[in-house]
Amino acid sequence: MSKFPLMVVGTVAVDSVETPFGKKDAVFGGSASYFSYAASFFSPVNLVAVVGSDFPEEYRNVLKERPIGLEHLQTANGKTFHWKGKYEADMNAALTLETHLNVLLDFKPRLKAGHEPETLFLANIDPDLQMTVLDQVQRPKCRFIACDTMNYWIEQKRSALKKVLARVDMVVVNDGEARLLSEELNLIKAGRAIQALGPGIVIVKKGEHGALLFHGEKFFTLPAYPLEEVFDPTGAGDSFAGGVMGYLTKTADTGFENVKKAVVHGAVIASFTVEHFGLERLRNLREGEIEERLGQFQRICMF
Ligand code: AMP
Repeated sequence: MSKFPLMVVGTVAVDSVETPFGKKDAVFGGSASYFSYAASFFSPVNLVAVVGSDFPEEYRNVLKERPIGLEHLQTANGKTFHWKGKYEADMNAALTLETHLNVLLDFKPRLKAGHEPETLFLANIDPDLQMTVLDQVQRPKCRFIACDTMNYWIEQKRSALKKVLARVDMVVVNDGEARLLSEELNLIKAGRAIQALGPGIVIVKKGEHGALLFHGEKFFTLPAYPLEEVFDPTGAGDSFAGGVMGYLTKTADTGFENVKKAVVHGAVIASFTVEHFGLERLRNLREGEIEERLGQFQRICMF
């Protein structure tokens, strides 16, 4: 077994975030950062990404707190990817104010020999870059591949994204992205339409309203873990995906019943992320806190 069975390609970013509870510049973020930190509670993960020469050592040290492989974290001349977003009363929808691709524009991910993953997650990043990584992994050695995306890429690179979707086993998108991608308003129809693009498994996240799982012909719906206070939703989607993929990698079973459990693990990890800015809450998890919340979640969902 490889030291890092799970691999992720995505963004490592410096974000600026504004929520009704406060405003913060220079928050450590990015789709791959949230994903890998969350996944690492279940499986070691290899992170494939690029940062600029301005990337603070302090952020790199945050990733080093967990079993996250940094051999594929390139440093390029230039500035790190920067996203500026805002949440208003509806904490389920991020409003993108600015996206600066910076070093992402010239990023060429190259996987080193001896790092073949068993499972791969193509986190939110340019679909052309997702494809570059997809082309470097071998099936069936890599037994499960999933991806994410967002409105930015659906609008700018729809055809490249469709090629990626045709080659993955699972996709994780939010409700807005599912509607935009499928051109269906109804989320059940949207999920089915996305399955028809390739992935047999589709997860549609609905923020505080939970998630829908389409698995072949089968279907499952889960509420979100109920929180009285959502401080900053940034990274919830990526942490959710990290929890799902970390759990699927650890358990090596992508049958319906186990993917249901993976979705529950994703929802629990995401519920911690949104309790603070950036990765702060995940960094401060107490021993046993994930299990405690899983138990509580099970009790309130059972009937
Ligand atoms: P989410 O989990 O959906 O809240 O994702 C939040 C993260 O996505 C932020 O930390 C951003 O840095 C990152 N992000 C925002 N826009 C993009 C984009 N166009 N491509 C890749 N990552 C992005």
